[in-house]
Amino acid sequence: MSVLPTYQVLDGKRCGDALRADIAKGALEVRSKRGRAPHLAAVLVGSDGASRTYVEAKVKACEEVGFRSSLIVLPETITEDDLLHRVKQLNKDKELDGFIVQLPLPDHIDADKVTLAIAPEKDVDGFHPENIGRMVLGLPGFLPATPSGIVELLRHYHVETAGKHCVVIGRSHIVGTPMSILMSRNAYPGNCTVTLAHSRTMDLPALTREADILIAALGKPEFVTGAMVREGAVVVDVGIHRIADASRKSGFRLVGDVKFDEVAPKCSWIAPVPGGVGPMTITSLLLNTLKACTH
Ligand code: NAD
Repeated sequence: MSVLPTYQVLDGKRCGDALRADIAKGALEVRSKRGRAPHLAAVLVGSDGASRTYVEAKVKACEEVGFRSSLIVLPETITEDDLLHRVKQLNKDKELDGFIVQLPLPDHIDADKVTLAIAPEKDVDGFHPENIGRMVLGLPGFLPATPSGIVELLRHYHVETAGKHCVVIGRSHIVGTPMSILMSRNAYPGNCTVTLAHSRTMDLPALTREADILIAALGKPEFVTGAMVREGAVVVDVGIHRIADASRKSGFRLVGDVKFDEVAPKCSWIAPVPGGVGPMTITSLLLNTLKACTH
């Protein structure tokens, strides 16, 4: 006799597909109004395999919803000045609605300088300080893709958030910190009491056991164990890691920051890896690009 799981899956592929169908309709409207489709460019510096995979997935997603996309591959040896010059050209390109510069960048390039050089109205990754400031103040702007994708995933599945204790593990500028801001804002999803945990947090397991909603974005494979999670919690796994696995054709398998087999049976909802947050991140990028055409 098979036992049905007690938890429900926050399925990012399913939710992303539903949102992408609406985005495709939006793209058609933009095309009929302006005579050209929304256009996103992705800049890739160097030949890092994982970065290339992410960028190619973004380009493919654009094509699937009827956007135009451009992949700009620059050599690993490009100077910071030359990259900044390229960014300025893209800022001025009237045929382009938004663009991203895939991170991480080589060590000789200051990623903060590059982020600052991107025009806020084309910053569809939502990393520019102006867009971060707009998010904090609740003003219109581009939300960072991964946190915004998580918010859309919680909305799609009508997960209750008001008054809940949300613990976010990780305080990076692109995931943990904006996530903590979005979950505490006076909106749905939001209205949580938020604790932002990081590498200096004392007794993390005691904290995570208090979480109604736990968002793991620390970048350590299978760090969150069953003993760290309370019964009935909502768990969102943001981490993504390739683990060597000779039994797979690809030679690797993907795991998150959460030990799924131990944690899932304790959850009410869980966003797994793969198939949870990943597809939502790309969907948010598409949403931001569509927004760039219409504001
Ligand atoms: P990061 O390395 O920039 O930040 C990690 C954060 O975790 C830091 O703030 C650090 O203080 C904290 N941390 C590290 N060890 C800790 C510990 N033992 N206890 C508590 N806090 C600790 O990482 P990031 O860019 O925020 O990414 C986090 C993870 O999410 C990575 O695995 C990354 O690959 C993944 N990610 C996935 C997506 C997606 O679309 N699925 C998007 C972005 C990032």
